[in-house]
This record gives sequence, structure tokens and C-alpha cells, in this order.
Amino acid sequence: MSSAEHPRKAFGWAARDASGVLSPFNFSRRATGEKDVAFKVLYCGICHSDLHMVKNEWGHTVYPVVPGHEIVGEVTEVGSNVTKFKVGDRVGVGCMVGSCHSCDNCANNVENYCPKMILTYGSKYHDGTMTYGGYSDTMVVEEHFIVRIPDNLPLDAAAPLLCAGITVFSPLRYYGLDRPGAHVGVVGLGGLGHVAVKFAKAMGAKVTVISTSPNKKNEAIESLGADAFLISRNQDELEGAMGTMDGIIDTVSAHHPLLPLIGLLKSHGKLVLVGAPEKPLELPVFPLLLGRKLVGGSCIGGMKETQEMVDFAAKHNITADIEVIPIDYVNTAMGRLLKADVKYRFVIDIANTMKASS
Ligand SMILES: [Zn+2]
Ligand SMILES: [Zn+2]
Repeated sequence: MSSAEHPRKAFGWAARDASGVLSPFNFSRRATGEKDVAFKVLYCGICHSDLHMVKNEWGHTVYPVVPGHEIVGEVTEVGSNVTKFKVGDRVGVGCMVGSCHSCDNCANNVENYCPKMILTYGSKYHDGTMTYGGYSDTMVVEEHFIVRIPDNLPLDAAAPLLCAGITVFSPLRYYGLDRPGAHVGVVGLGGLGHVAVKFAKAMGAKVTVISTSPNKKNEAIESLGADAFLISRNQDELEGAMGTMDGIIDTVSAHHPLLPLIGLLKSHGKLVLVGAPEKPLELPVFPLLLGRKLVGGSCIGGMKETQEMVDFAAKHNITADIEVIPIDYVNTAMGRLLKADVKYRFVIDIANTMKASS
């Protein structure tokens, strides 16, 4: 049924039920509208949300679901009113493909907070059809939701910037942590955290990684360039760093205590949550009052800022550390992701390994 909705044949890998197992899937994409850009997908990153979505862990998955929102590729066709892109351009699409274009959020370049924001996959598009993500051979997306990937960024390692990158870049900027001399903590050294370290360092901040795994220390400091490393279960280490941080980017989506993190903040320090724990976390209030501290959140970023993030990454040679995989490894990769067994992001080589079964 879904393969007959639109005129353009498409092929991808979809999960059909909450087992989350992905398998080949024929579907269709809309014809290139006047404001649309069509592109051939070359690479797509595997984000932790893909895993949650294919298993319906947030309870709103509509099957079949084609995941993928760290998508890069090459433009194959542009609509008659497209002004920023031409055939052959290197482009990317992140977590959203539509918004209302008329609310305050849209007017202020934060389409990511538009109440009618349309997610790249598993959402209803303006025309009522479901959106399908980047574990597929082609995309057709409104020009406004496409970013340009500068020539010096390798496409495979740039793909994760489109979700992981903007998720940490935006709060560093918004909460004023993007400055030389700021002391920034990064909690969790995974897909998001390792990019957060790179961005914060490039912005001139002093960066301390806070992790439960002592064996990540060398990597954090030597490969990623962090200035210091704290083991979050080591009380002595935490106490030694109390009251030293201007802000913390907390990428952890598992249940975890906030009190020790609030303790690490200076007065007026900001604890920013970008992970999404399934159950509410406990918020101790006294330590917030004593020091006028703030706990905030952040979710991806608007399109203007996403382009700024990619351009900043290109200027500072920032990409994700990746393991490139063929599409038929995707189910194994999901299993490894669940165990955090990847440094630090899987990226699917779509163009070379995904072949339509016809
Ligand atoms: Zn994501
Ligand atoms: Zn809007």
C-alpha cells in the first residue's frame, strides 16, 4: 500500500513491529515539488533514537518505520522555486523535515520548537502521508530543511553532526558556554558526548568529561582533547571539582542522580539535559537555590543554527568518530548500540551497500 502512495519508487530498510528487526522495504516518495530538493542518500548515521523508535519504546511508533535522521547525500533534482541548491550539491537532513512557517518559533529560526514540527521519520507530513527516514536510497525534502555540507567535511563522518552535533552545539551556544575560559562538563562519552567535547574545545572552553567508565579516560583526554576526566561514582574526585563548572551538558538517557552534577556547578552554573530518560529524574531544589543555579533542556536546533553548526565544524575540522557499516549489518549494529559498544557512532554506507530487491 505504502509503495503506491507517491510516484517515485523508493527502497529502504524498515522495522515492521516492536521486535525492531529491520528488513528490506519498498515504498514511495513524493515527486519533487517546487520548493523541494531530491537527493540520493549516501550515508546515514544510527542515532540512539532510531533504536527507541524501532522498538516502540516511546509508545508512538507507526509501523512500518524507516528510521534515520543523520542523512547526507548528493542532490539529484531541485524544484522550480529552489534557490539555494543545485544538482550535484552535497547536502544533509537532520531530525526534521517540516514546520508551520507561521508561529513565533518558526519566525525566530527555532523551527525545532514549532508545535507542528514534522520529524524526518515516523511523523505525518503536510499531505497526510508518513515520513520515512534515511535508511533508504532517496530523500525528497523541502529546501528549508536542507543544509549544505562544506567540501572539506567527509560525508560519512559529517552525517552524525545532523543530530548528535546540533543537539550539543545548540545548548553550548544558547546557554553561553561557547566562550574561552568557560569550564564545561560533559556527562556521558557516547555519540553526543564525544562531539560535545570537540565543539566545546573548539569554542575555547576548558572541558571535563564526567563518566561512569574509568577506561574512557585516556580516550577522552588523548584522542578527544578533553582537559580533565571525572569518574562520576568516585566521591573524592567529585568533591575535588565541586563548584568549578560554568555549565554541564548532560547527554545521559539512563536514570541518574542530578545532585552530584549540580554540586559541580559554580554559582549561576547551568546544568543542561539533552538525553531523554524514560522516567522523571529527581530534582533536588536546595542546591539550586544556593547559588542561583539553573537546570535546563535543549532539543536539536533550528535550521539556521544547524547550518552554522555544520559550517563551524568545517572550519574547525570537527566530525564524529565513526564505524562505517553495510546495511545488512544494521540489526547487529543496533544490538551493539544497546550495549554502547561503538566508538562513537555507526554510519551506514547506504549508496554502496543498499540494493533494491526490485
Ligand atoms: Zn538523533
Ligand atoms: Zn511553526
